Amino acid sequence: MNRGKLISEDICDISQLMDFGWLTNTRDLRKVTDQFPMRITPYYLGLIDKTDENDPIARMCIPSVDELRISGSFDTSGEKKNTMQKGLQHKYRQTALILSTNVCAMYCRHCFRKRMVGLTEDELSSQLDKAVDYVRSHEEITNILISGGDSLMMPDRIIERYLYEFSKLDNLDLIRFGSRVPVVFPQRIDGNLISIFRKYRSHKQIYLITQFNHPREFTEQSIAAIKAFLDIGIQVRNQTVLLRGVNDNPEVLSDLLRNLTKTGIVPYYIFQCRPVTGVRERFQVPILEGVRLTDAAKSKQNGMGKSVRYVMSHTKGKIEILGSQDDDTTLFKFHQSHGSKDTARVFTAKLTKNSTWLDENLNAI
Ligand code: SF4
Repeated sequence: MNRGKLISEDICDISQLMDFGWLTNTRDLRKVTDQFPMRITPYYLGLIDKTDENDPIARMCIPSVDELRISGSFDTSGEKKNTMQKGLQHKYRQTALILSTNVCAMYCRHCFRKRMVGLTEDELSSQLDKAVDYVRSHEEITNILISGGDSLMMPDRIIERYLYEFSKLDNLDLIRFGSRVPVVFPQRIDGNLISIFRKYRSHKQIYLITQFNHPREFTEQSIAAIKAFLDIGIQVRNQTVLLRGVNDNPEVLSDLLRNLTKTGIVPYYIFQCRPVTGVRERFQVPILEGVRLTDAAKSKQNGMGKSVRYVMSHTKGKIEILGSQDDDTTLFKFHQSHGSKDTARVFTAKLTKNSTWLDENLNAI
């Protein structure tokens, strides 16, 4: 399948949403797309139920004026501070995060990297040699996460270069690719791409990290895209974002987890939506509600489904939200920490029913 041709068919102008029959007025939405670009694949647009004005699929891809409500911050987990060189972050000792591109197949309205995705079409692959040097010279790094943007939106030859260069590094145990392409653009996963992954899979363990957020994202095409990776021995894990109006319902969340395990995807994390400007007002679910939802959804799963963790990616580290206690406090545990003093530390915070995040002192806000 020709990647370039498919991209050229994407829906990037809101007048196309009128043609699709979703909108009657585009004026206010142009202010939104001037700031936060829109891109929807024809495939994903086709998943929308046009008879439902609150359709969860539409909510993830169609802009809303709510995105202009100014609150929150653009960098809620300290990405700027952890940037060691252009396109490379090193927050946790054993992991380097590589931002390989600013391009995505679809610009998710809930994206926490809204400040950068889609704003330039620059490929960051020119930084690849420097990234390889950095990872090679930091022996404590045992794995890399190649993200973006969307790592699988890079051309095949660039993806192969990443695999070729990083496969040679002895300090790396594994390479992870973060991508929503199997969910929003499964046609991109063609024989050529899979043959590249097959070639390097014997050199280094490779993982694909996806982001399925709703059961209706499981279609014949998206399942086939995932199976293509599984069939060549690439493990697939999923990170869901807990989103208001999308999966903030125990049945929906439960169905999502079941679809993941049924497809052979390990449910890895359910992320608390970050307080990102243009996102928090529309998508954040309070933490106490999130605890109830995830507990209810997990109660319906087998052991594989129950392995998922409800977490928040905070400036201080990755914090697991363990649950509420009888004394009205909520229990948290550092799953990953920025500094060693917090490693595996358990702590409590008193939340209100509206609390959605923790401040720098780990108090509820
Ligand atoms: S694919 Fe990922 S990086 Fe791209 S817009 Fe969606 S959430 Fe953001």
